[in-house]
Amino acid sequence: MSYSDLQQQPIAMFDMDGTLLDLAFDDFIWNHCLPERHAQTHQCSLEQSQQTLFQFYKQHKHTLSWYSSAYWTAKVGVDVLQLQHEHREKICARSGCFQLLKQLKAQGYRCWLLTNADRAGLQLKLENVELSSYFELMISSEELGHAKEEVAFWQKLQEMHPFDPAQAIFIDDTVAVLQGAEDFGITQLFSILQPSSAKPARTPTELPYPALDHLNDLLDYIENNIQVTDAKTA
Ligand SMILES: [Mg+2]
Repeated sequence: MSYSDLQQQPIAMFDMDGTLLDLAFDDFIWNHCLPERHAQTHQCSLEQSQQTLFQFYKQHKHTLSWYSSAYWTAKVGVDVLQLQHEHREKICARSGCFQLLKQLKAQGYRCWLLTNADRAGLQLKLENVELSSYFELMISSEELGHAKEEVAFWQKLQEMHPFDPAQAIFIDDTVAVLQGAEDFGITQLFSILQPSSAKPARTPTELPYPALDHLNDLLDYIENNIQVTDAKTA
């Protein structure tokens, strides 16, 4: 296949945590394990640790630091990557994940994984869930120097890996991230109803983007709602 043919193939861009992988793992680490370990490390009560940490979480949400294990390790004095490693058996794919990726590949989609997890976090997830074989590209926002919430992330991505936004579908459980992608010019955007199996599903009306219940629902959307231009006939 020539380079220009490849350029015309549609791209399915996926977020990792909360989209392909169950966010229950990350919630467990950040809301349960880290406060406990933080309290042990600093000899304070669990309530004090929760207060300190949740205050930090609020301040840094949606910034690149929020997604950096090195930043958190330095900030709170607990090795958060090690903590995730200790509980790695809890890392798992959301239902329908592999089925969807297989189907998309069979339909000629190029799949890209775009995560705000830092490189070490991405590595840890990939060591524990067999995702890498489905993706031609796996990018951590750490590499681009901007979180996905920022238009600059998308501009940098396009500079490094040219793509046509009109030929891209992007699926992410975080609304602020979808907004960043929309501001950049991607129009085929989808959210996820239940990013974490440990929390109730959100209602479609509280989300400003079409939200997938089962990951495989994306295939119906593609068939029924989305006109992907066929390079051969365009
Ligand atoms: Mg996510």
